[in-house]
Amino acid sequence: MKKLFAKTYNKSKKEYVKLLEDCLKESKKKFVVTANPEAFMLAMNDEAYSKMLMDTMTDIVPDGIGLVKAGQMLDFAFEERIPGVDLAEELLLLSNVYHKKVFLFGSKKEVIEKMRDVILEKYPNCIICGLYDGYVDDKEAVFKEMAKQQPDVVLVALGMPLQEQLIYKCLNLFKKGIFVGVGGSFDVLSGMKKRAPKIFIKLNLEWLYRIACEPKRLKRFYDNNVKFIFKIRKYKKMEAKKK
Ligand code: UDP
Repeated sequence: MKKLFAKTYNKSKKEYVKLLEDCLKESKKKFVVTANPEAFMLAMNDEAYSKMLMDTMTDIVPDGIGLVKAGQMLDFAFEERIPGVDLAEELLLLSNVYHKKVFLFGSKKEVIEKMRDVILEKYPNCIICGLYDGYVDDKEAVFKEMAKQQPDVVLVALGMPLQEQLIYKCLNLFKKGIFVGVGGSFDVLSGMKKRAPKIFIKLNLEWLYRIACEPKRLKRFYDNNVKFIFKIRKYKKMEAKKK
């Protein structure tokens, strides 16, 4: 667990976006996991998932506030949250500036179609080289199609952990590209779902807004975030006893 925290990006979102900009300009290959406590909990119980996070090709950025807080408790000074939806937006902006090829995969058919309209309007210089909804039967076949295009930016919105597992499995088909699992970001960026009001985001209470809108998320939140913080507290106490 400590290794995962140590590997997680701890500077600002602005600095990380600059890093991605350089990768994009130099046509490098990178896999970004926007991690929340759920990802770290999974890694503790699933060796393959943990290996994926620790791979040198993988960048971990702290998405969930639970992760930022836990990191701070363990003296890993994370500067701020870097949400997947923000990275998706920044990558579209950069692709617009540098006329890069973007491949979008995931979310419902009506959402992905709306995404295309939004990109054509807001980011007209982006080259959309592929667009698939996330409910196709053979998801790996989409990656094979994608590989023919060799995109510069790949946004996969299938929810975690599936989106990360699929990207990681297919990564060797690509010579370049920034690959990010962006969860429910297309729902928000397409305008089909509202993001939390700015004040919630500023106060790091976006999770509360999401639960209020979709109460079925409460169990998932409790199972991952609340139990996670308890685990970290227990770990800290054990460490203190050892000293
Ligand atoms: N989704 C998909 N195919 C699937 C399952 C889910 O495309 O087989 C999409 C779903 O429509 C949604 C996204 O994956 O747009 C997951 O969103 P959620 O907010 O649950 O993801 P999280 O960010 O919480 O991981």
